[in-house]
Amino acid sequence: MTGSFLSSGTVTILQPSRLFTRDLNGTVRPPLFCYNLGLPLRLYNTLSGKVEEFAPATDNTVRMYACGPTVYDYAHIGNFRTFVAIDILRRFLRQSGFKLKHVMNITDVDDRIIKNAAAQHKSVQEYTHQYEEAFLEDMRWLNLERPELVVRATEHIREMAEYIQALAKKGIAYSASDGSYYFRVAKFPEYGKLSKKDLSGIEAGARVDVEEYGKENPRDFALWKSPKEGEDLWDSPIGKGHPGWHIECSVMAMKYLGESFDLHGGGEDLAFPHHENEIAQAESLTGKIFARHWMHVRFLLVESDKMSKSAGNFHTLRDLVLQGHKPSSIRFLLASVPYRKQLNFTLAGLEQGAKSVERLRTFDSRIRMSQLPAGTNPVAQEAAAKAKQEMRAGMDDDLNTAYAAGAIFDMVREANILADRGELREGDKAPLLEALQQFDEIFAVLKDDDAEKMKAAMEWGRSRGILKDSEIPADAMSDAEINRLIEERNAAKKARDFGRSDAIRKQLSDAGIIVEDTKDGSRWKRK
Ligand SMILES: [Zn+2]
Repeated sequence: MTGSFLSSGTVTILQPSRLFTRDLNGTVRPPLFCYNLGLPLRLYNTLSGKVEEFAPATDNTVRMYACGPTVYDYAHIGNFRTFVAIDILRRFLRQSGFKLKHVMNITDVDDRIIKNAAAQHKSVQEYTHQYEEAFLEDMRWLNLERPELVVRATEHIREMAEYIQALAKKGIAYSASDGSYYFRVAKFPEYGKLSKKDLSGIEAGARVDVEEYGKENPRDFALWKSPKEGEDLWDSPIGKGHPGWHIECSVMAMKYLGESFDLHGGGEDLAFPHHENEIAQAESLTGKIFARHWMHVRFLLVESDKMSKSAGNFHTLRDLVLQGHKPSSIRFLLASVPYRKQLNFTLAGLEQGAKSVERLRTFDSRIRMSQLPAGTNPVAQEAAAKAKQEMRAGMDDDLNTAYAAGAIFDMVREANILADRGELREGDKAPLLEALQQFDEIFAVLKDDDAEKMKAAMEWGRSRGILKDSEIPADAMSDAEINRLIEERNAAKKARDFGRSDAIRKQLSDAGIIVEDTKDGSRWKRK
């Protein structure tokens, strides 16, 4: 079956008791629209305005492009909501058996960058380098997978200039007297098809940006900008200056993915004008559909307000980590609200996220370390199977991460009850851990490496003079170091060297590590 489930007779009928389940906060969740396994991924496509089945067009590889950061400052959590959503998409596509060719650009040239660099008497490259490095490190802190290709705008200036030349040859681009180039929007009648904006009000004679005085029509947009006094510039086949932001993405996307590709993503604020302009630049020249599917991630609110520097609720990832929030809690909070829903990012939500992650990690080590009687318990087997199926169904339904997370927590609750009653069996471990792994392939929060990342953040804070030495706690212990000490302590206990085993316990406790001795062995967690 490949069509919509409405046209088929294979809809799974569920028992009424399973139609409604509780979410993380205990509120009852309505049923998913369709539970039928084997249905393809359905994603909302901004271009069609509908939820559609999504699959790559040519072979098993999804060719996708997502707009990357403009490296003129540290990235904020609003940016990271988008990057986490794209990461979840790519992880789920891979889990679904697809291969990926995912391109992310680094915008390392634009008006702000050029202006800031000039003000600091730095070259553009010197200026952007620190922010690019910081962004790539932020990505690692949030367990964002590195796209197959990460490409810099400044390394494609010649291709962009040549592309503008080709547009000019067809009469789609024109140059102004100062050497800037503009896109003639009137040449692309489909302009506006992505954002569905009514652009009829913007006509010739309206107010024109003073820096773009050479435009024929206010709707036209810059492809190439002529240099201003004292600013960095590039020499190119169309003269000196620098490319506009929109042309950068069209040219790099097509260079690496071809004239037509499967999916283009970004934050909802990019749909207009950035993505609209990308489509116009690409399709007016090639005559082919640029990206078949457009995915836009909704803005987030911070403490119920629009995030802004003036409102005092503006957080970079680095701010939050330096305030002591774990990267895994931040990722969990950003990941657990489906990408098209409003996410209200609050400090209380972060605390809740930290507890959720802790619960999963504790469950993981509990199951791994417990010594259980042989056999299986059908209740545990059913809980694991149901979680796997519901996670899959939730993610297939336009990446409903809240549903997927709810499913794993239902399983953890049921399995914990069975474990408390001594009713889990050795043969239940594998399916429970498999379900947990299926979840973590998407959410990526189980590995406890927060301490190392927070230490790196503090070192960065110290090197920038943001943190004083006295504000930096004693060295955090790495997981490997803790495990080594636990093993040494177990060996000491076995050898009845209680002086040594107590000393190690104290050393761990001083480092904020709680050791619990259970009949199944020693477990540890961070305070
Ligand atoms: Zn872009």
